[in-house]
Amino acid sequence: MYAKAHIHSMAPYIPGFQPEAEQQVIKLNSNENPYPPSPDVRKALAGFDYALLRRYPNATAEPVREVLAEIYGVNRNQVFCGNGSDEIISLLFKAFLEEGSTIALPYPTYSLYRTAADIHRVHCEFVPTRDDFSIDTEALLAVPSQAIILVNPNAPTGLLVSVDVIEELAGRYNGLLIVDEAYIDFADGEASALRLIGRCPNLLILRTLSKSYSLCGIRFGYAFADEALIEALDKCKDSYNVSMLTQTIAAAALRDRSYFDETVGRIRASRGSLGGSLRRLGFAVPDSETNFLLCTPPAGSGLSARRITEWLAERHVYIRHFDSPLLEDKIRISIGTEEENSKLLTLLEDLLNRPE
Ligand code: PMP
Repeated sequence: MYAKAHIHSMAPYIPGFQPEAEQQVIKLNSNENPYPPSPDVRKALAGFDYALLRRYPNATAEPVREVLAEIYGVNRNQVFCGNGSDEIISLLFKAFLEEGSTIALPYPTYSLYRTAADIHRVHCEFVPTRDDFSIDTEALLAVPSQAIILVNPNAPTGLLVSVDVIEELAGRYNGLLIVDEAYIDFADGEASALRLIGRCPNLLILRTLSKSYSLCGIRFGYAFADEALIEALDKCKDSYNVSMLTQTIAAAALRDRSYFDETVGRIRASRGSLGGSLRRLGFAVPDSETNFLLCTPPAGSGLSARRITEWLAERHVYIRHFDSPLLEDKIRISIGTEEENSKLLTLLEDLLNRPE
């Protein structure tokens, strides 16, 4: 009863099911990475002097900004570090979006954007994707808005918009163009809009170490943009928004390029083989440029997405199902290890062959 009226009436953001650490489950419901982080993370933790924890961390995560600038070939002033990209999403609203302003987003998209907009009393104008989930950029531009937010590749559809389209969008739009590249490292070829930084002053790219670096647990996100946009984020952040342990781990993981390439490569290969096997079982599976697959249950199987999800959960295999507009009767499966994927496939085969 003490909450502000608009917070009181808001729906909370509900993250996917989190099992207890010791529970033995196959968890393919939150787009986590199935492999451990780089072994260099373990070394960095083993070598970390715990006594340093009495001090505050570097306030701007300077050493990690420098590593990011070096790896991604941008200027140090074009990088921001946050406590997960979720924190940066909240800062985007604080720094750039007035109460009562409007943002345009394709629908479906990452659902946290709606929650963040509600908290900050910003209006969301959702522009439906086409039947094949492709994004209607003309319709996005037609909305009078202060920002456009594109998740690229999109979640939960897995589809990618090309850099050329993003460049054109940025050029034709007066507002802020936010491109959330949480899954970009799993995409084919030179898919990132990073090369537009320095050329498009209204472009801000959001990234995370949660997915491709297997570090959901440390909460580290980063952003690339022109210096003026980064300065605004710096003004709005908490004084010490990235913990000392997070900074240590993030720098170690980022520097280990070969482990990153190897694990991302493995996930991309598994995505191809899992997609093929699911199609052979009768699922409709559009191509994905991410570490997850959005699937429609086999036509005529009599099995709904919800039923499949619940049946698997009873066997301690967790996936996610959707039943919202444009996402009717869909399941989303995060790519697991080869062993996890084959256990999932065996169970699905079993379910499809049961006389119901
Ligand atoms: N953007 C998208 C599109 C996501 O799917 C997620 C993770 N669910 C995030 C951002 C947030 O990632 P982080 O763990 O860095 O907060």
